[in-house]
Amino acid sequence: MRACRRCHILTDKTVCPFCGKPTTEHWQGYLIVIDVNRSQVAKKMGIKMPGKYALKVR
Ligand SMILES: [Zn+2]
Repeated sequence: MRACRRCHILTDKTVCPFCGKPTTEHWQGYLIVIDVNRSQVAKKMGIKMPGKYALKVR
């Protein structure tokens, strides 16, 4: 799995399917967001879509 450097979403692509930025293999921890409006972490990270996200991306 790779993580987008900008929006942190996890993907197997080398380019993020959502924002088009390059992805990286260097990430740590992940977060599953189901309800964006109820997740404080999602709000803090600026997540707007449900999905799997990396907590830390280098
Ligand atoms: Zn992205």
